Amino acid sequence: MTGAPGPSGASASRPSRPLPRITPLDAAHWEATTRGVLLVQRCSECARWQWPAATRCPGCGADALVWERASGRGRVHTYTVVHAAGHPAFAAEVPYNVTVVQLDEGPLMLTNLVGLTQEDITVDLPVEVTFERVSPEMAIPRFTPRG
Ligand SMILES: [Zn+2]
Repeated sequence: MTGAPGPSGASASRPSRPLPRITPLDAAHWEATTRGVLLVQRCSECARWQWPAATRCPGCGADALVWERASGRGRVHTYTVVHAAGHPAFAAEVPYNVTVVQLDEGPLMLTNLVGLTQEDITVDLPVEVTFERVSPEMAIPRFTPRG
């Protein structure tokens, strides 16, 4: 037992937090998160990076997507600050941000920023990935200001 928060550790007073469902398509990504590695698909035909996981490259249509380690660096593309939690499990966390980070490799990733106040979030803010372990099988990629 790691003691990490998650569905099995939720108490009656705090509802279980909804987590992404691991599918065969993105299992490699989630396995890597447990090792602190950000894997994103890349097309071995046209070199385009792809997230979320797809079966074919949206750029060239090739059935040639492979998992590669991304830099974990990017910039804030857009964000919103949530003041009314959309799920009871997040009620204690308001206000929190929901942010789209554009990875340096190109893909957009829906995430949250951590390690800053909501007022400090700006479009184009340089960020880097950090991982929040939420279960034995999963760590959620979050982003924190760089430098
Ligand atoms: Zn391609």
